[in-house]
Amino acid sequence: MENKINLLSLNQKSLDEFFAKLGAKSYCTKQLMKWIYKDHVFDFDQMLNLSKKLREKLKEVACIEFPKIVTKNHALDGVIKWVIETGSENHVEMVYIPEKDRGTLCISSQVGCALACTFCSTGYQGFNRNLSTAEIIAQVLIANLHLNPAGKRISNVVFMGMGEPLLNEEAVYSACDLLLDDLSFGLSRRRVTISSSGVVPALERMSERVPVSLAISLHAANDTLRDELVPINKKYPIETLMKACDVYLNAGTQERHILFEYVMLKGVNDSSEHAKQLSKLLKGVSAKVNLIPFNPFPQSDYETSSVRTIESFQNILFSNGIRTMTRRTRGEDVDAACGQLAGKVKDKTKRADARRN
Ligand code: SAH
Ligand code: SF4
Repeated sequence: MENKINLLSLNQKSLDEFFAKLGAKSYCTKQLMKWIYKDHVFDFDQMLNLSKKLREKLKEVACIEFPKIVTKNHALDGVIKWVIETGSENHVEMVYIPEKDRGTLCISSQVGCALACTFCSTGYQGFNRNLSTAEIIAQVLIANLHLNPAGKRISNVVFMGMGEPLLNEEAVYSACDLLLDDLSFGLSRRRVTISSSGVVPALERMSERVPVSLAISLHAANDTLRDELVPINKKYPIETLMKACDVYLNAGTQERHILFEYVMLKGVNDSSEHAKQLSKLLKGVSAKVNLIPFNPFPQSDYETSSVRTIESFQNILFSNGIRTMTRRTRGEDVDAACGQLAGKVKDKTKRADARRN
């Protein structure tokens, strides 16, 4: 089984190459993608428009495999959180967030995260490994298989679960290809979002490689504070990051904007001075700001800013002409809110141990 290729790993181009190597006709790609992504048929024997010979060959060299579902929890507000198994001591999570006019699936790109942002539960756990394209795409398929019979659908996919997508570029880009491809999920580029804490070289490559939407986890508009909250800032400080954002905004043919995420931490980054700094930084940038009330988790001492503080912060941004919204916290009763996704990570960086000592 180990040597078989999981076809969920292959975007259209790679499937073309795969079938060409098998000596099959090029239209097999289209047929196979329809079976998998439209009909949700995963057994080669049932793919009757593929020749018997090809089906037998596929059984020898390929598979369509999903990670096991460990748990599925429904929150009172309609949010659903799945935990899936990605190895004996590793679990990752994905979350479905229904809204009036859309259904967003928040997916994971890594088992844990090495970037250690101080306010993030995933970061606290350390890092084990990157997810494969198949493991990323399986999250969307698993959610679809559950939601579609109930008449629900996924209209948006965001890489805002566990992990830093731009530290797992190839797998994430191939997954984006499949999310955008009409033969598979067919989502529009505005409805697929990569969220990054600012891995600058990757950000520049991503700008050219996949035409999806971008969210940047900013959280502070000065380097001293951002160094503390988002440690990768020491490597790629705000000025460098904003230049990479410019590359993104100017790439492609369609108009682009960036969503800047800003977690509201009481007494840390939520003063009127911080709001003014943020307004200054984003002046003239095609940007929208998403204020995220901090979601607590057991190992953290941070507290969330009060509703009133968030409102006055937002008003300062408004008065500087910056489009801003405050994210409503969803799914807290099943620990599915932003930054609460912890899964189960066998930390290879040994960060969790270092913190405990
Ligand atoms: N690594 C990527 C994507 C995953 S995190 C990134 O950092 O962008 C998704 C979003 O949740 C990020 O904006 C992150 O900063 C935010 N987040 C992390 N921990 C949080 C917490 N405890 N409360 C609220 N938001 C949090
Ligand atoms: Fe990693 Fe994002 Fe969490 Fe930072 S906020 S530790 S980059 S998952």
